[in-house]
Amino acid sequence: MQLYNKLSANERAELIKQAGKERLTLSFYQYAHISNPQEFRDQLFIKWDSLDVLGRIYVATEGINAQLSLPADHFEAFKNHLDSIDFLKDVRLNIAIEQDNMSFLKLKVKVREKIVADGLNDDTFDVTNKGVHLSAKEFNDMLDNPNTVCVDMRNHYESEIGHFDGAVTPDVDTFRESLDIIEEDLRDHKEDKNLLMYCTGGIRCEKASAYYKHKGFKNVYQLEGGIIEYTRQVNAEGIENKFIGKNFVFDERRAEKISDDVIAKCHQCGKPCDTHVNCANDACHLLFIQCEDCKTEMDNCCSSTCKDIHALPYEEQKALRKGQGNSNDIFKKGRADHLPYKKDLRNIFETLKK
Ligand SMILES: [Zn+2]
Ligand SMILES: [Zn+2]
Repeated sequence: MQLYNKLSANERAELIKQAGKERLTLSFYQYAHISNPQEFRDQLFIKWDSLDVLGRIYVATEGINAQLSLPADHFEAFKNHLDSIDFLKDVRLNIAIEQDNMSFLKLKVKVREKIVADGLNDDTFDVTNKGVHLSAKEFNDMLDNPNTVCVDMRNHYESEIGHFDGAVTPDVDTFRESLDIIEEDLRDHKEDKNLLMYCTGGIRCEKASAYYKHKGFKNVYQLEGGIIEYTRQVNAEGIENKFIGKNFVFDERRAEKISDDVIAKCHQCGKPCDTHVNCANDACHLLFIQCEDCKTEMDNCCSSTCKDIHALPYEEQKALRKGQGNSNDIFKKGRADHLPYKKDLRNIFETLKK
């Protein structure tokens, strides 16, 4: 029995093209107690592989976090399968705002220690003791409340291209860093301020809200279903949209447009631009924002050094990399001194002083 992905991304892309079927991109998560994650993982892989599901799924003893795509006409069978699993019955599915048949090109179901890399010791607090969930309308009202501090729980490269109007966007590389900074900055306001949080699909806030309640915060709120569900409600119910720019997503699409505003700049020339790319030098692969002009001028690279290396014959590049350990991670945390227009994000203190 096949338990792992066998096709390359290119082979898969070709198959999707040939099939010519419309695919649906969606995500969901659920905190639950899974006693044997490996066994659960294998069951999921076998079933979902048979339904032509592609995506990145994490399974842990604390639950499941799934981002995937599937042929639209397999949706019912997929939904029935989810409903047959106790803790996934009627789980909220976040359907992507902008669809793309090529959003995922492999099925990867991985057993991890956590479904969100949080750097926390789970035994110290109860993740099910979460904050108050808010709908889009309720979130907007809370955002307007002068006693509210709204915090973006995502990382710097996510909030740089889009965030809620008036939100604090911590300049962090990891969720863990965010947790500490927010706690420290709001130390004297645990009881008098409303702590209002949001993230992409809700999973990070689920944990963060439980964490802050555990730390003594009295008024903890989170946007139910994150930016994705917020946008769905805004469109379906004609509610005012308070999110400006793009929603960063963790698949081949990179981002979904939520409003027409372009709030970021090309990191190389400063022109308005909110398109993330990875440096074409395989040994660098830095994630950064680059406009079309700079892309041409820099040959898809982040620096002239990378441009020079990228121009070398492939064998020479490989020889250069030897022994250097190339992390081919597209979400490499991009902070490079040679990118003059990388934005410094706002911290909480500035907001409190206003
Ligand atoms: Zn540029
Ligand atoms: Zn580079």
